[in-house]
Amino acid sequence: MLIPKLDNVFNNLCSGKYNRNDCARFISKINMSPGLGPWGNCWEWSSRLSKKGYGQFGCSRHNKKINHSSHRVSYEMFTGKLLGTYCACHKCDNRKCVNPTHLFPGTILDNNIDRDNKGRNNALRGEEHNMSKLTWAQVHEIRKLYNTTTLSFVKLAKMFQVSYVEISYIVNNSHWHDVSYIQTRFRKGYRKLNNEDLIEICKLHKSSNLTHAQLGDMFSTNRKLIGKIVNGTYKCNE
Ligand SMILES: [Zn+2]
Repeated sequence: MLIPKLDNVFNNLCSGKYNRNDCARFISKINMSPGLGPWGNCWEWSSRLSKKGYGQFGCSRHNKKINHSSHRVSYEMFTGKLLGTYCACHKCDNRKCVNPTHLFPGTILDNNIDRDNKGRNNALRGEEHNMSKLTWAQVHEIRKLYNTTTLSFVKLAKMFQVSYVEISYIVNNSHWHDVSYIQTRFRKGYRKLNNEDLIEICKLHKSSNLTHAQLGDMFSTNRKLIGKIVNGTYKCNE
């Protein structure tokens, strides 16, 4: 893990934009515990956050307090390069993160393209979401378990106390999006369904807008069979 050495940071004071006191204060507000963020090495801002979830850092100059975005300050402090009109974009997609190795300078356009590619336009996702019951550590665990064992969505949903649908979204990377995640386990042929699956399929069919094909994908079976299940012409021989 990259640990900031104060002396190195102090050599990069950005032509007087930040002083030693700012640097020391800045570093004291970073949570560098291992395991944070999608790659386990984010540095999360432990102080004030903006409404959008970015860290806020105040510097006093001539008795005036100026608020800066922490990730911008971090990039400038640790690299010694001023961003000017450039944005500090997150590679890790974790707004609280101020790890300078997770940041890159980009134009506003780059930032918007990057944000749209990561699917976070307008929506807070992952741990930022108040309703989220999971943490990144659990999401990694779910993905690892799904890809390295034969555990089904049903079993994983029970283990982690979330819905089937959520597990399927996590496994296919549409929720808790992580650019570095690689799905290795895919459906091979059709799985034999048990009574538990049938009940869940009927429940989901009534309560959601999922199509037969989507339900088939979720339960590793085909949409024709889902059709039979939801109209009651399929019985399971368990
Ligand atoms: Zn990060």
